[in-house]
Amino acid sequence: LKIEPMETNIVVKEVLGFLEREALYRKIDVRLKLFEELNTINSDKGQIQQVLLNLLTNAFAAVEDGGVIRIRTENFRVSGVRITVSDDGSGIPEDIIQHIFDPFFSTKKEKGTGLGLSISYGIIDKLGGTISVSSKVGQGSDFVITLPKTPEHS
Ligand code: ADP
Ligand code: MG
Repeated sequence: LKIEPMETNIVVKEVLGFLEREALYRKIDVRLKLFEELNTINSDKGQIQQVLLNLLTNAFAAVEDGGVIRIRTENFRVSGVRITVSDDGSGIPEDIIQHIFDPFFSTKKEKGTGLGLSISYGIIDKLGGTISVSSKVGQGSDFVITLPKTPEHS
């Protein structure tokens, strides 16, 4: 890990840069609600980018063309941050949601490695945070990440 002061809103915008073309092409509406006075935290920017890219790649896969993806940042407790990635896509059936963070679990025929969420879970755990999901079939999914001011033991 490379723990340094990190502006989460900037990291979010950087990651979105990678997905801009696909969003335009597929007319996906990516809505940002970035809290202006977000806490600066100490974290590993490269690893957080990886996690956001994984969540957003899944969100892009879940929505139809013309769909909506929302990314929101907020302060969490005294000095942490919370990032929510929501989509209005397929949603996740109740009987599989408990498996989505397992390594190699994928419902994507052929093109899924099933590693994105398990790697993301490991990264967020190492950074002292949490990642959780809520979802409703036919309505969409919300992935919520919380990160502390500073990982413990760093
Ligand atoms: P992969 O994307 O390679 O399948 P992931 O670990 O990223 O692997 O995701 C595991 C599974 O979780 C996916 O195959 C899919 O079934 C489900 N999933 C993850 N994110 C979403 C989402 N935003 N909407 C619907 N299903 C999702
Ligand atoms: Mg994935």
